[in-house]
Amino acid sequence: MKYPIHIERVTQSRAGTIKKEDIFFGRHYADHMFIADYFDGEWRNPRIIPFQNLSLNPATNSLHYGQLIFEGMKAYKGPNNEALLFRPDKNYERFNRSATRMGMPELPEELFMNAIHELINIDRSWIPGGEGYSLYIRPFMMATDEFIGIRPTERFSFIIITSPAQPYYNKPVRVMTFEKFVRAFPGGVGYAKAAGNYGSSMLPLREAIQNGYDQVLWLDGDEHQYAEEIGSMNIFFMIDDILITPSLDQGTILEGVTRDSIIQLAQAEGIRVEERKISIDEVTEANKNSRLTDCFGVGTAASVVPISVIHYKGQDHVLSPVDDRIWYRKLKYQLDAIKTGKQADIFNWVIPVGSTIYN
Ligand SMILES: *Cc1c(COP(=O)(O)O)cnc(C)c1O
Repeated sequence: MKYPIHIERVTQSRAGTIKKEDIFFGRHYADHMFIADYFDGEWRNPRIIPFQNLSLNPATNSLHYGQLIFEGMKAYKGPNNEALLFRPDKNYERFNRSATRMGMPELPEELFMNAIHELINIDRSWIPGGEGYSLYIRPFMMATDEFIGIRPTERFSFIIITSPAQPYYNKPVRVMTFEKFVRAFPGGVGYAKAAGNYGSSMLPLREAIQNGYDQVLWLDGDEHQYAEEIGSMNIFFMIDDILITPSLDQGTILEGVTRDSIIQLAQAEGIRVEERKISIDEVTEANKNSRLTDCFGVGTAASVVPISVIHYKGQDHVLSPVDDRIWYRKLKYQLDAIKTGKQADIFNWVIPVGSTIYN
């Protein structure tokens, strides 16, 4: 192995001390974390250590300029207590695409995968069992040059932390659109899971929540009329029995692993899927004529969530009653069943932890 991982275990595990009703995404973190450092052009010193605070010089570059990227994935408990990962190769590829766009070094596949497998293996007792529960996995990379001038950086840390997550309450989501705020534009960093994309969304999100909505539905940066995506979810519309999702070719939309999985699941069900531009006028027109029969957001955190209201140009468009919708429920059921090993994995998406050693 080119990157052997040094392991320092906790003396006393905290696993099992957290009551099931206290499990809440991001509230508790598992016993261990993974770190590797990059300097002099090479990834070095990969290690698993007890979960702890970072010690950073206040001049650490990423704190000032946001050169920081992340991923979001989950480990699920299988029917025989296995730890199951869902399409980790997709997260790995996206992490490197984000890194490249942000001027950061790529991670070798061996380093990324062995780190995930080793860390989840050591903390596998932190994966909560039961419907909807999982262990959320947060890999991230930050520039660590101790220099507050703006210049290309040379030092980085790659870190992974994990947090037990509870079932997501599938309450229908009310989304608000804006013309005065945009998330991304061609040539920008919309396709990267880069920290700044989320920092800049906080003000619009606050405004949406203050107005009684749950999330922002982002529109394109040029004409402010085409649907792009929701906070941390891609979006799908079913019009005339065709499943439509915004295309990725402008580089303004995060390429979701869930998005790709839903496209494949829908196609396997014989549904026609189109990846193309879709304007809010097209959506609201179809809604008026009862041709819009479903609309949902998809992402790792929430799986598949129905959208009940779209606010556009000062008007609320109430979509068809969620109880009448067939497809979001069917696709969500299949996706969740595959992830947790309850349904045959016909796409070879599920990877048991420890099943693969990357050399
Ligand atoms: C992470 C994310 C998604 C969903 O991606 P998944 O890989 O399906 O979890 C969608 N949009 C944005 C902006 C995201 O950050």
